[in-house]
Amino acid sequence: MTSPPTTPATAAPVPAARPGTPLIRAEKLRVEYRGRSGGKVRALRDIDLEIKEGETLGLVGESGCGKSTLGRALLRVVEPASGTIDFLGLNITRLRGSRLRRTRADLQMVFQDPFGSLNPRRRVADIVAEPLLRSRGMSRAEAAPVVGELLERVGLGAEAGRRKPHEFSGGQRQRIGIARALASSPRLVVADEAVSALDVSIQAQVLNLLADMVVERGLTMLFISHDLGVVRHIADRVAVMYLGQIIEIASRDDFFAGPAHPYSDALLSSVPSPRPGDRPERPLLEGELPDPANPPEGCLFQTRCPFAEAECRTRMPELREIAPGRTVRCHLPLVSPEKG
Ligand code: SF4
Repeated sequence: MTSPPTTPATAAPVPAARPGTPLIRAEKLRVEYRGRSGGKVRALRDIDLEIKEGETLGLVGESGCGKSTLGRALLRVVEPASGTIDFLGLNITRLRGSRLRRTRADLQMVFQDPFGSLNPRRRVADIVAEPLLRSRGMSRAEAAPVVGELLERVGLGAEAGRRKPHEFSGGQRQRIGIARALASSPRLVVADEAVSALDVSIQAQVLNLLADMVVERGLTMLFISHDLGVVRHIADRVAVMYLGQIIEIASRDDFFAGPAHPYSDALLSSVPSPRPGDRPERPLLEGELPDPANPPEGCLFQTRCPFAEAECRTRMPELREIAPGRTVRCHLPLVSPEKG
């Protein structure tokens, strides 16, 4: 196995990794856009979320719930309307110019579409070298050995650098995307539906590569997916979004043993259990996601929740801790709060 490339000498100094401590934290993060009727639509509603060093946090929810927007906002690709993003103790919410460029080298993304996210006219070596040149200030000669080593590590071989993206399969292109994301030795990688476009047999290989990279490089990963089966395979903790809100955060084991929010429970109904018959049947998720421009009063899930009561229709629940490391936004959680 090729050893991973070291952080380039020209990289901005970053504090040493301290597994388990917060790497990035969003507080009251809000993103808005103009709806068709001209009114404001909240894509993110005052998100509070912390990702710890060295962990893989799975971010799940139906399409349109704000998962990708949150990933992009953390990377400063989408501008927040309000709230803060703290990265390694530095407020990066309003960084601009060269400081933003340097910070971006530590925050990278693996995209969903391995066909559309790579420039077809450029050689693979140039694509992978780009973050090193742009964000780490390296010359092409300095970047070349780092690129070769990365292409070896992701299983393509250094000679792949001479070819163009169309010469590769979907799974191989996603490996190129991973090499590009890792080139600048980032601290956080946001993988946005990174295996969704791949065949199931290839998905497992790319997932395993991502998981290996997290361990080898001490990476932290936000793994965005609508596929709970995949999240179960790779995540340490799970955060669930609904209509721009975080509605549950739990360890992977607690979450899959028994989610606390009725929406999470319904989402899990679509995932086959590895041991058939080992848990009671869950209610199926019914109804459509409400129009984000016209959300319901009270709890945002009350229009689809089988347990909704009068309070749910008038008062929005807070995100509250029901056990150490376990939070839920529901007046009537399915897991009883621990007495402390
Ligand atoms: Fe259902 Fe009420 Fe909980 Fe909302 S607060 S998820 S409506 S039980």
